[in-house]
Amino acid sequence: MNILLASVLTVSDIGRVGGELTRYQYSQLHMGGRVAITLYSASSEAAEAAAKAGFAEFARLEDVMSDYRPASELMRLCEKAAQRPVEASPDLFRVVSIAQKISAKSHGAFDITCGPVVALWRRARETKRLPPKQAIQEALREVGYRFVRLDPSRRTIQLLKPGMKLDLGGIGKGYACDAASAAIRRAGCSIFLIEAGGNIRAGNPPPNREWRIGIGKSRVIAIENASVSTSGDAEQFVEIGGRRYSHIVDPRTGIGVTNRVQVTVIGKDGAAADALSTALCVLGERAGKRLAKEFKCKPLFLHPGD
Ligand code: ADP
Ligand code: MG
Repeated sequence: MNILLASVLTVSDIGRVGGELTRYQYSQLHMGGRVAITLYSASSEAAEAAAKAGFAEFARLEDVMSDYRPASELMRLCEKAAQRPVEASPDLFRVVSIAQKISAKSHGAFDITCGPVVALWRRARETKRLPPKQAIQEALREVGYRFVRLDPSRRTIQLLKPGMKLDLGGIGKGYACDAASAAIRRAGCSIFLIEAGGNIRAGNPPPNREWRIGIGKSRVIAIENASVSTSGDAEQFVEIGGRRYSHIVDPRTGIGVTNRVQVTVIGKDGAAADALSTALCVLGERAGKRLAKEFKCKPLFLHPGD
């Protein structure tokens, strides 16, 4: 299904607040899910233009980063980059660079080269069978962030092992939220909230109000000019032999994460918050809190029932 076909710009909620500003809410389908943009604006034309600019970034970056679209820049690069360094667009180079930094700092708990392992667990969710041990061992041979070579001066990416497959699923939506946020500002709107799956990006708060985000069953946080990313096994998992395996994998062992944790990371940068929330699911609370601190992010660990 081409999800872009289903994208319709609709005003689903309008309400006046103090002064001249009106609240507008729009949603479209991008990156495999619903993206919602709420903003406050003096006119419906300005609101619509800003929302359109935001959604356009999601559409554009999906063509760059998707691992479902064979023609995406990422997929084309993976095909060629095992033989030689391949020049990447500024966006692709940037998102991979951020990912690599978090991989190094997390000692491989976050690793965008986990594509071959992620594919095995995707199949496991369909068949309800654990991936064979040997298949995991074979997939692990193609995994390792150290085998990605970046050359910032030429903006090239090279994959040093044959069969490597990059997967930006753990960082792409956060990166797109950052880009959409910048585009909305460029379009003249500073009071907005972007929601894309587990990723939220807030601009300035509405006058005399705040952006309030519910986390788990009981917590509510207020944010402005910040990103909030949540990862966990709440939606995508497979249960086999009484264990629940998340769609987040430990790239060092090749096994789906089983620690039943939901992690929310609050920080300035959406791409980093997204990658960190994935990494912290793998690392657990102790090491995870240390890593979040290095990136000046605030982590929240929630357990089933919280
Ligand atoms: P969501 O899919 O809900 O946005 P995440 O941001 O946590 O959640 O991303 C999970 C996705 O990231 C997986 O579907 C997979 O594509 C990829 N992934 C899984 N494990 C890792 C990992 N350890 N490091 C990097 N990416 C991962
Ligand atoms: Mg993530």
